[in-house]
Amino acid sequence: MTINPGHSRNPGSDGPGSAELDAALRQFAQRPQILVALDFDGVLAPFVRDPDAAAPMPSSVAAVHRLSRAGVHIAYISGRPLADLRSRAEAPAGAVFVGSHGAEVAMNGDDGADADAVELSTDEADRLAALNSRLASALSRTPNTWLESKPAGVVVHTRGADEDEAARALEQAREAAADFPTVKVTKGHHVLEFALRHSNKGEGLSRVRSSLRPEAVLFAGDDTTDEDAFAILRPEDVGIKVGPGETAARYRVRDPQQVSDVLEQLAELVESRDG
Ligand SMILES: [Mg+2]
Repeated sequence: MTINPGHSRNPGSDGPGSAELDAALRQFAQRPQILVALDFDGVLAPFVRDPDAAAPMPSSVAAVHRLSRAGVHIAYISGRPLADLRSRAEAPAGAVFVGSHGAEVAMNGDDGADADAVELSTDEADRLAALNSRLASALSRTPNTWLESKPAGVVVHTRGADEDEAARALEQAREAAADFPTVKVTKGHHVLEFALRHSNKGEGLSRVRSSLRPEAVLFAGDDTTDEDAFAILRPEDVGIKVGPGETAARYRVRDPQQVSDVLEQLAELVESRDG
């Protein structure tokens, strides 16, 4: 059965227990080689005002470890820098990490803290420093916003600002960055990201897929940047959009709690397959 992408104006109506997602999970779990790829913020970790305080839901951590023990490949795909993602994921051994929207990838077995991490050229480093200082001065008088430095970019955070403040901050940030035409600008939930390296979660997920060669992939994401990953999914894959909004994903759940429910259901299915 085909579900019209983005048809759900009522998030959660396709949540765990819905017949379509249930059937898709059952079929997916039958395959011996599968990859479960998960965005972090808003999917494994509920949103919190301070991104440094974000932590995965314990029930999701437990379900992911069960899946890993049952032989399922696990990947974390996030806009966060790889080292930050790795430090807070509470991941099982052998998990794959894709950080900075695909710009950093640590494949299965990489044990270095910064495997395949971004290394900037001198020119890139100079441009990044210049971009950082332009944004910092542009936002210096806008309350409740802050900048986060990334290995190959800068993120403007507006969580905590009211709507007017946030809109003003984003406009000022875009103006300040206008002199950096090769920088890619990506809008997310309460963030505006400026990236020197152009990659996306779809490219990151494709790299993981071609390395691990699973028969099928489940990917769950909540943000506009996750659409690049939904876009590369195949008919045998399971794409799950978390929360409201337009999406190319075939299924939808409401929130990280329902992601946890899906992961637990999948763990049960995979364990009973193996048993
Ligand atoms: Mg997210």
